[in-house]
Amino acid sequence: MLGPFLMSCAAIFHEFRYFSFKSIPMRLSTILFTIVFTAQSFCFAAFAQQDPMVAAIIKEATENSQLKRMSHELMDGVGPRLVGSTKMVQASDWAIAQYQQYGISAKRENYGTWRGWDRGITHVDMISPWTKSLEATQLAFSPSTKKAVKGETIILADVADSVAFKQWLPNVKGKFVLIAMPQPTGRPDYNWKEFATKASMDKMVQERKELTEAWRKRISKTGYNNRTLAAALENAGAAGIVGSNWSQGFGVNKIFDAYTKKIPTIDVMLEDYGLLYRLTESGAAPTISVLAKSKELGEVPTFNTIGEIKGTSKANEYVMLSAHFDSWDGGTGATDNGTGTMVMMEAMRILKKIYPNPKRTILVGHWGSEEQGLNGSRAFVEDHPEIVSNLQALINQDNGTGRIVNLSGSGYAKSKDYVGRWLSAVPGAYKDSIRTSFPGMPGGGGSDHASFVAAGAPAFSLGALNWSYFNYTWHTNRDTYDKIVFDDLRNNAIITAILVYMACEDPERSSTEKANNAAWPAPVKAKRKGGYDK
Ligand SMILES: [Zn+2]
Repeated sequence: MLGPFLMSCAAIFHEFRYFSFKSIPMRLSTILFTIVFTAQSFCFAAFAQQDPMVAAIIKEATENSQLKRMSHELMDGVGPRLVGSTKMVQASDWAIAQYQQYGISAKRENYGTWRGWDRGITHVDMISPWTKSLEATQLAFSPSTKKAVKGETIILADVADSVAFKQWLPNVKGKFVLIAMPQPTGRPDYNWKEFATKASMDKMVQERKELTEAWRKRISKTGYNNRTLAAALENAGAAGIVGSNWSQGFGVNKIFDAYTKKIPTIDVMLEDYGLLYRLTESGAAPTISVLAKSKELGEVPTFNTIGEIKGTSKANEYVMLSAHFDSWDGGTGATDNGTGTMVMMEAMRILKKIYPNPKRTILVGHWGSEEQGLNGSRAFVEDHPEIVSNLQALINQDNGTGRIVNLSGSGYAKSKDYVGRWLSAVPGAYKDSIRTSFPGMPGGGGSDHASFVAAGAPAFSLGALNWSYFNYTWHTNRDTYDKIVFDDLRNNAIITAILVYMACEDPERSSTEKANNAAWPAPVKAKRKGGYDK
């Protein structure tokens, strides 16, 4: 098969073959024959116009996709890829071995160090007033417990001011402090919109607004912010900090990093957190048992993983594929940014097989520590000025599993000419839903292409269809393999491979002239030593 357009051509032949001409009058059959024949000719014309390289890319992506196998090996076999973790090294080793198998050279490039930390088991149970194992996750970089620590829960007090808070603080000694607002509902708004009366929906929204504001005041009256409050509770002898960062969907919380240095910080899912909160509030004095076994690794290297297919006639000019490799670790980082990683690896594999002798050199950057501020890509930009100044294009993807629907010219005045030229080689079925904006605006820092744009290099982002990314998978405990939409990834690998091929072949260098109205972001320095300053 050669993709949907050609399949629909095949369907026309099929109709033609099985049509019985004897059953209709002569004139009508002549008209029908003309219509079908014209359609056939049109199909042949389209086929003849399609670059055989493009057809071969689509065929390879469709008939020999490695996306499922690779996704299983990375997301299920290795798991999440937190900066400073052993898993990040394992993931890099895995990717390098994959590339070697495809005949592509790849290596790890260290650019700094980070606090090393490996997640262990988190096991949290309510043991009084009744027994229930809770869905809870130790936050990244949180201190561990040697054995299970038991303690009562206490709600962060609503005090008059910071003086009153200091007087209250000794109450937390030996207790687990509930520091998150209890949500009035665990149902996402779309569920309320579907089933609630308008009056009860409005009431819930108003109640939540008031609760949120009251909780914000409760924190600020302590004289601390979220970050410094954890330290104050820790210094007052609390057994641990218990939060709940709801992501506004069924059963989904966001899992980031901890602010404590000695005691564990855990996130408890909305449902279980609400249970603990209500029982604490009503005087049932729940006791929980917390076992959180992580490991400190000391200062470890932080790195990018870079692959290369050497160019031929213009080897000193570069076309780069780009996706950050690191993730938060509440789930397995499947859509942030496992899927971007898969698209780039699959496109590299296809390019090496179908287009092994590119005019320009093809590079792929699997960045480290994007989540802490684009550190890997910023370091690469600083360390490789010769590549940045000779970049024909960089193509980044980092917003989930969906089909590409947005492509912006990143604020480059002439981007419409050359990106448009490359995009014109992509058959309609793969790009019909893409909305382009030229010259567009330079990205301020949402993902790694911004590191290159800030340096004035032609870098672009493939914007994916949402698929409930922000609520359900982005930085959440539900960012796992089952959320990947493989048909969409294949679509994106095809688009990426064709764009890269076209950018490599283009006789013209891409212009980096900036559009008049674009306010250009300034380059930001990479953080080359991190994880200790909280
Ligand atoms: Zn991301």
